[in-house]
Amino acid sequence: MVVRTSQVVPFDEVSELLTATGARVRNSVPLAELTTLRVGGPAIVADCASTDALVATVRALDAAGIPVLLLAGGSNLLVADAGFGGVVVRIATEDVRIEADHVIAEAGANWDAVVAATVQAGLGGLECLSGIPGSAGATPVQNVGAYGVEVAQLLRRVRLLDRPSGAVRWVEPEELGFGYRTSVLKHSDRAVVLGVEFALRSDGSSAPLRYRELYQALDTEEGRSRPAAEVRAAVLRLRASKGMVLDPDDHDTWSAGSFFTNPVVPAQREAEVRAAVAAHVGDVTIPSYPAPDGVKFSAGWLIERAGFAKGFPGPQAPARLSTKHTLALTNRGAATAADLVELARTVRDGVAERFGIRLEPEPVTVGVNL
Ligand SMILES: Cc1cc2nc3c(=O)[nH]c(=O)nc-3n(C[C@H](O)[C@H](O)[C@H](O)COP(=O)(O)OP(=O)(O)OC[C@H]3O[C@@H](n4cnc5c(N)ncnc54)[C@H](O)[C@@H]3O)c2cc1C
Repeated sequence: MVVRTSQVVPFDEVSELLTATGARVRNSVPLAELTTLRVGGPAIVADCASTDALVATVRALDAAGIPVLLLAGGSNLLVADAGFGGVVVRIATEDVRIEADHVIAEAGANWDAVVAATVQAGLGGLECLSGIPGSAGATPVQNVGAYGVEVAQLLRRVRLLDRPSGAVRWVEPEELGFGYRTSVLKHSDRAVVLGVEFALRSDGSSAPLRYRELYQALDTEEGRSRPAAEVRAAVLRLRASKGMVLDPDDHDTWSAGSFFTNPVVPAQREAEVRAAVAAHVGDVTIPSYPAPDGVKFSAGWLIERAGFAKGFPGPQAPARLSTKHTLALTNRGAATAADLVELARTVRDGVAERFGIRLEPEPVTVGVNL
């Protein structure tokens, strides 16, 4: 695959190339309209409403060496104000099939609608992942997780278009290199997720509850299960209180969710970080969790203790930390991608200066660099 270096691909050329693919091709679409941060300049967009159209479109663009940006719900993307010079392939497939103990969804299916339908059908497993914006197909990309559950724990298989070979096949989760908010698919052009299959609990009970805030809200203990519908309702309540459920009228939700991942510090650096925290904020217990490669600290806690309060830098700024949750960078209505990048840098550098920990962004950045 030869990827062209030219900045902007001519619309007529793309339109002709994609004629037979079944995609609807549009010119100069503001990507701010397709992302939950509501920033991003113009691009050519190819809407793919069927899996066949999606496969044919990506194959044709790859063969022509035209840069592709896959976009579904746009809830984990920070796109430059200059837009994107290649073609945005918008994944708009939506079929969902629920069986006795599993669900199969096409990549573009709305994730929360998939979760709601499984819970409604009396099946458990996905309820802790309620209320997460975006598509079913993007969930393996960053191993979406919340309230103690990650999709890697429930995925049975993933249907991929392998871009270098053009082949379509189902793969096992073991092939996808899942980690904390990552997989081999993130920051990579190697594959398009076409569909996903999740195992479900046919007794309608939730996955064992692991997240303290959630099991306490349900008045139960760690490791216990509750009816999936009850857990879904509790998760939605908790998420809404933090601005983590999309609401067009609430600017605290004009975000990409958590902007930074929780940093994992190697075990040998743990004492040094705790000492830096003690030097700045006194003798307090920093929330931490065991992680395979060391200790995971809470990014939100570090941000707050580094001096960035909810709503930072203040009511006049177009880009601010959410007023409900320090970990979300939000657009108050008129922010640009440049405003968000500046805020992200300020917060990241402030945390690094005080505690010696470099926070890494969770969303995928396109045409911007922190
Ligand atoms: C309010 C809010 C709350 C959130 N809460 C959480 C949370 O609790 N946990 C969590 O993990 N995330 C959370 N997120 C982040 C986001 O919702 C998830 O990452 C989601 O899975 C992104 O889906 P999407 O369809 O919007 O992906 P997009 O933003 O469209 O794309 C994200 C990335 O995935 C790629 N991609 C998309 N679809 C495919 C595909 N079919 N095949 C290959 N690559 C693809 C894109 O190219 C891009 O690189 C939150 C976001 C918001 C706005």
